[in-house]
Amino acid sequence: MRRTALVTGANRGIGLAIASGLVDAGLEVIIAARDPATAAEVARPLGAGHVQLDVRDPESISAAVQACGAVDVLVNNAGVMPGGPLLDNPTGFAESLAVMVAGPYLLIRALAPGMARRDYGRIVNVSSGWGSFAEGIGGPSGYGVAKAALNALTVAVAQELPATVLVNAMCPGWVRTRMGGSGAPRSPDRGRTRRSG
Ligand code: NDP
Repeated sequence: MRRTALVTGANRGIGLAIASGLVDAGLEVIIAARDPATAAEVARPLGAGHVQLDVRDPESISAAVQACGAVDVLVNNAGVMPGGPLLDNPTGFAESLAVMVAGPYLLIRALAPGMARRDYGRIVNVSSGWGSFAEGIGGPSGYGVAKAALNALTVAVAQELPATVLVNAMCPGWVRTRMGGSGAPRSPDRGRTRRSG
């Protein structure tokens, strides 16, 4: 049976590499992106589907979930890193929580019941070392706080869902993307190919 995967923020960076890797693994992949034209453009060469999705917007989430139908694998990858110190940037703090906590929560809430009914689900939340208490909750503005909350959400949701729906958080390391910058040691494709560089 062919599984369907939905990847948020899949128009570039790590999300695009994850989507491409899931296509290679034989899944039916839906590229979710804020800009529908970009989503379509990125999906075409991969043979993937696409959907417009701004994870800050509950209506956009509802419409995307409706359009996707059954989803077996959800990758909450979309992320932002607003600049500045935490206490100087309340807008960045709110955006971090909206994109990296509330959006994933609403997507999980919408898609996990179907996964549970079908006795199969995989939810992967793309987190960060900066969201780890052991590593000190780092990063600018609300980034580390939001990733720590995403880690907590991962644990809480895993406790609530049946064992057939696996919920995990992962840290990709420091990766050369628009967020990671050109000095990062890892390429977005590294996780896909298991090769270094
Ligand atoms: P990029 O900045 O390259 O990509 C971020 C993606 O998130 C883009 O597709 C962007 O879409 C999307 N996005 C942002 N806001 C929204 C929104 N409101 N709705 C939908 N999509 C949105 O970053 P990376 O690929 O590096 O990051 C991917 C994930 O990996 C993030 O969660 C990040 O925190 C995490 N991460 C990255 C690390 C790194 O070193 N790069 C290290 C640790 C974790 P758009 O093009 O429309 O802006």
